[in-house]
Amino acid sequence: MTQDSSPTIESVLQEERQFAPPPQLAAEARIGSMAAYQALAARAEADPDGFWGEAARSELHWFAPFDTVLDWSDPPFARWFEGGTTNLSFNCLDRHLDGPRADKTALIWEGEPGDGRSFTYRELHVEVCRAANALKALGVGKGDLVALYMPMVPEAAIAMLACARIGAPHSVVFGGFSAEALRDRLIDGQAKLVITADGGFRKDKAVALKPAVDQALAEGCPSVEHVLVVRRTGEATGFEAGRDVWWHELVDGQSADCPAEPMASEDRLFVLYTSGSTGKPKGVVHTTAGYNLWAHLTFQWIFDIREDDIHWCTADVGWITGHSYIVYGPLSNGATTLMYEGAPRPSKPGAFWEVIEKHRVTIFYTAPTAIRAFMKSGRAVPDRYDMGSLRILGTVGEPINPEAWMWYRDVIGGDRCPVVDTWWQTETGGVMISPLPGATPTKPGSATLPLPGIAADVVDLEGNSVPTGQGGYLAVRRPWPGMMRTVHGDPERFRRSYWEHIRPADGSWLYFAGDGARRDADGYFWVMGRVDDVINVSGHRLGTMEIESALVSHPSVAEAAVVGRPDELKGEGIVAFVTLDVGVEGDAALEAELRRHVGLEIGPIARPDVIRFTDALPKTRSGKIMRRILRSLAAGEDVSGDTSTLEDRSVLDALRV
Ligand code: ATP
Ligand code: MG
Repeated sequence: MTQDSSPTIESVLQEERQFAPPPQLAAEARIGSMAAYQALAARAEADPDGFWGEAARSELHWFAPFDTVLDWSDPPFARWFEGGTTNLSFNCLDRHLDGPRADKTALIWEGEPGDGRSFTYRELHVEVCRAANALKALGVGKGDLVALYMPMVPEAAIAMLACARIGAPHSVVFGGFSAEALRDRLIDGQAKLVITADGGFRKDKAVALKPAVDQALAEGCPSVEHVLVVRRTGEATGFEAGRDVWWHELVDGQSADCPAEPMASEDRLFVLYTSGSTGKPKGVVHTTAGYNLWAHLTFQWIFDIREDDIHWCTADVGWITGHSYIVYGPLSNGATTLMYEGAPRPSKPGAFWEVIEKHRVTIFYTAPTAIRAFMKSGRAVPDRYDMGSLRILGTVGEPINPEAWMWYRDVIGGDRCPVVDTWWQTETGGVMISPLPGATPTKPGSATLPLPGIAADVVDLEGNSVPTGQGGYLAVRRPWPGMMRTVHGDPERFRRSYWEHIRPADGSWLYFAGDGARRDADGYFWVMGRVDDVINVSGHRLGTMEIESALVSHPSVAEAAVVGRPDELKGEGIVAFVTLDVGVEGDAALEAELRRHVGLEIGPIARPDVIRFTDALPKTRSGKIMRRILRSLAAGEDVSGDTSTLEDRSVLDALRV
């Protein structure tokens, strides 16, 4: 985290475009006007306990009612809905079985090779109960940690729900991680069981997963007793008798009767590691009732979910976005959720659009990295598909550059669908700042306003709100149900990482997790990037997002990342790494033109000193630009620190030359 005592970040971006919610959508929406949003937010502000208590009672099923809404007597360790018992798997399944939803499609799965399966709520309930009984048969009980290392197959969601059903916390480790990364997480979490698959399909090839599990365990993970293996690709795989068990052999024969275990509100629900953009990943702990409520409510609000929606979130279940918006948020609301094993690839650049057309997807939720990749290759591909079913578009993961936002709205959304730019983190459990599609006028590049009950603000190091238009630290002033409870095994790191940067004189607690932002005259939030990445040019502290957006607004630029490098005169100089649209060559003339372009767009102070054209930028496996790596490269230093979350090492090698 930055030690710079200067409290603010300068803003240079000008963005004036604005889009009202479509009138028809607003007329039918749950929250259909700014007045309705403001009324809800005001109620939450006036009486947070009353607001959250009522929401928890009306939106979740309780085996036993809770006594208190929030216990904040030992900050920053919050306890929500104490005395109550509930179960996430029950809320996602059993409570939908009484009425017509029982035979509604809960999960549509599309495999990469073109195979597919779908499950009604009744069918999914049976699968989850069987899997839960299988876990018990393997000796897994309440409180035992189960690690998942899975491709994007239905069994991943089924296993998560089965764990929640019996009260065994899960720790989903993204299937793209190496054996070492997996092993670190197995040891850190003391996992008792690993659920995996022989492999999955990726870019038209079978990619093995089980060997990584074998390797992780061979190097010693004493807590792991069994490995439960889903057969997906059918490729031969090592099998250790006594330890390894096939899913189909164990699960399919189990009873379909497995009552959901009543769980205390604060029982641990899952551990999930952050994606590691900035350093060593942290094991974020979420608990039962608060997380469930937050995933449920945010999903309902942000996507204005309707009974006939087909919701598709393209994240992997290995990330929080997959947890909250593929599995738990949609199912808790009784919605239809789609899960896709594949990704756009050379043999099928229109893979996503084909899925939308085929399944008549109505809500599409993806990441800026994907949108920029589509922009890079142009609109000809998406234009071949009928995406008229879409009604809402969402984005998450990084700041979205206004030009990418416009492209998304125009080309994918047919200039008709509201775009919800959702700001949140693994730590926050669910979305914190986002437009509501039927209420909030949107501005390209702004996540707009905090959700009801979320006391987000932009502050200086003493916790004072900074003036309108000035950048500062994005912080949250009050606890919310979906907040992380601790760092697994390291409560001190939790306190240190999130609660000690901002120190108000009155001793109140502010949650801060690394991002810079500013608010405009309408109170809208503009996330400016991570404060660690702020560049200090001649005493001007500039966020990365605005300079990058100026570069991306040039018609030849697909994607840009800027970092500072030490400069004797200015303190820091700006180095920009730029990828160009397909077919465009980077040369000295274009470099000069881009420098001029940034100068015109946002001012001479932000003009990059150096522009490096590259084919690709280093990203995390969740698709986020890793600026700390670029910073080392720009300074001519060795790349140090944890690079295990890097998606493609060859990108780094190419940049080194
Ligand atoms: P680590 O904490 O290990 O560095 P990470 O922060 O990338 O990893 P996540 O929890 O997946 O892990 O990502 C949260 C971060 O992603 C936010 O703090 C923010 O920087 C960025 N982010 C997510 N959504 C948005 C958004 N809509 N606009 C701007 N930034 C976003
Ligand atoms: Mg983070």
